[in-house]
Amino acid sequence: MTGEGREFRKAACRRLRERRQSLAAEGAARYAGPMVQNSFSHVETWVFDLDNTLYPPAMRLFDQIEQKMTAWVMRELRLDHGAANHLRASYWQLYGTTLAGLMREHRIDPAGYLAEVHDIDFSVLRPDPDLARRIAALPGRRIVYTNADAPYAHKVLAARGLSGLFDAVYGVEHAGYLPKPEAAAFETVFGLDGLNPTRAAMFEDDARNLAVPHAMGLRTVHVAPSADPAPHVHHHAVDLSEFLGRLTQS
Ligand SMILES: [Mg+2]
Repeated sequence: MTGEGREFRKAACRRLRERRQSLAAEGAARYAGPMVQNSFSHVETWVFDLDNTLYPPAMRLFDQIEQKMTAWVMRELRLDHGAANHLRASYWQLYGTTLAGLMREHRIDPAGYLAEVHDIDFSVLRPDPDLARRIAALPGRRIVYTNADAPYAHKVLAARGLSGLFDAVYGVEHAGYLPKPEAAAFETVFGLDGLNPTRAAMFEDDARNLAVPHAMGLRTVHVAPSADPAPHVHHHAVDLSEFLGRLTQS
């Protein structure tokens, strides 16, 4: 075969390979929607975490809260910045929230603490009309369940243009300040709402908070920039809006 012939054959093989790859990608895209949709066809109640779930972590709202928490710990427990920051993070790791650790170890007043740490600048959040449209398209009951308090949650929802889309907003105060991932917290809030766990789905950025919902029978979606595979995580979504768009075809 001449050099020209070899080049022609190589180019033809490359075109064939590219065509096969593009057909495979088209097929995957065509089937991904219905496959995801089928996994949620039984869902009557949609449960959303708030922070870093209904807004992306890149908006860095939670950074402000962490700074306020550290300042609170420095002042109330008389610690320097490094020690206070370490205490904040280690209570979050150990108890699910910094507040839960502060209540357990120092018997603090939760209401005053929550009001202070959530007194932040909401202008870093932007309304998301596509996300609002896709949440509105979900059939059934839609609720928010956050480890922050409900008054703060309403401010976040307003700043994201999501007010009025949810049937209920539950905060840590609704479970007597017991936070996710404690089983008793989920049982209290889901009981208050009257949801049927086997007909519900939960969206959450902290994969720890999906273990109990999974055990209760909910379909679980981990919303985060990178996947953290675990037996209690059914789906991973980098972008909540895009994921809901596939579910609702909107
Ligand atoms: Mg969160």
